[in-house]
Amino acid sequence: MSLLVVGSVAFDAIETPFGKTDKIIGGAGTYIGLSASYFTKNVNLVSVVGGDFPNETLEMLNTKGINTDGIEIRQDEKTFFWSGKYHDNMNQRDTITTELNVLETFDPQVPDNYQGCDVLMLGNLSPGVQKSVIDRLNDRPKLIVMDTMNFWMDIMMDDLKTTIAMVDVLSINDEEARQLSGEYSLVSAAKKIMTMGPKYVIIKKGEHGALLFHEDKIFSAPGLPLEEVFDPTGAGDTFAGGFVGYLSAQSEINFDNMKKAVIYGSALASFCVEKFGIERIADLSDNDVASRVQQFTNLIEVDL
Ligand code: AMP
Repeated sequence: MSLLVVGSVAFDAIETPFGKTDKIIGGAGTYIGLSASYFTKNVNLVSVVGGDFPNETLEMLNTKGINTDGIEIRQDEKTFFWSGKYHDNMNQRDTITTELNVLETFDPQVPDNYQGCDVLMLGNLSPGVQKSVIDRLNDRPKLIVMDTMNFWMDIMMDDLKTTIAMVDVLSINDEEARQLSGEYSLVSAAKKIMTMGPKYVIIKKGEHGALLFHEDKIFSAPGLPLEEVFDPTGAGDTFAGGFVGYLSAQSEINFDNMKKAVIYGSALASFCVEKFGIERIADLSDNDVASRVQQFTNLIEVDL
């Protein structure tokens, strides 16, 4: 099955208790695409960058099986730039800078060769931009997965709810689920979000794993206990990429396959945090992924 991903392709600058980077490659679309590429070589990316974005990075994405025909390059403008700082508690971060640059007027175009996709992954972008990608597809994909963040809840809740009503799976973190639903209990929050449109809700709990909800069913995936979390940037996007990448490689989309997809997404996310930026997930072998998934299996295996 083919996968269409829309998301930012960006420059980031990150500071963690372990060190600091200058401008490095980031962006939700970059993390999602790279992570998905471990499962399918049929990834089509829609995004926008400025003339300052390195061509070698686009070529690197191509070597991973990621089609970048849908990345608009605006020669006279600058690429989206985000910088953030983490403190000792790596679950908390401060955004230092958000320079929208090319994203400010992003009007995503879907190339003809991207039409007919089976799975659509809407990375964190304004809900209006996410909706316009759905509107520009000639046929509705079999599965639409959406990520978002509290920023959009604060400033455009109505637009956000319109887009949420159009998707099958909403993937958000625990605090965002509480804000969106007005419910503290994550079970109540997921139930309420399922009345807004999505048939499936994934609630990410950082190092504590993720919950998948569908009708009255709940699946709980652990977070892999890691001795050192170096840089959590992009972990949520990497999770989403593994999730949609795995599903795109299956012949059927159902709850059982989604449970496995949550484990594959969690495995990829556990790599992401081991190094700065995309460094770790751009350089994995199939064997690395398989043995990390085995670690997850060992973690939850028990004879009762
Ligand atoms: P995450 O850590 O999963 O929240 O994702 C971090 C990535 O999201 C970084 O690489 C940023 O470039 C990107 N990002 C941060 N803010 C935004 C935004 N407002 N729109 C699009 N992408 C963003």
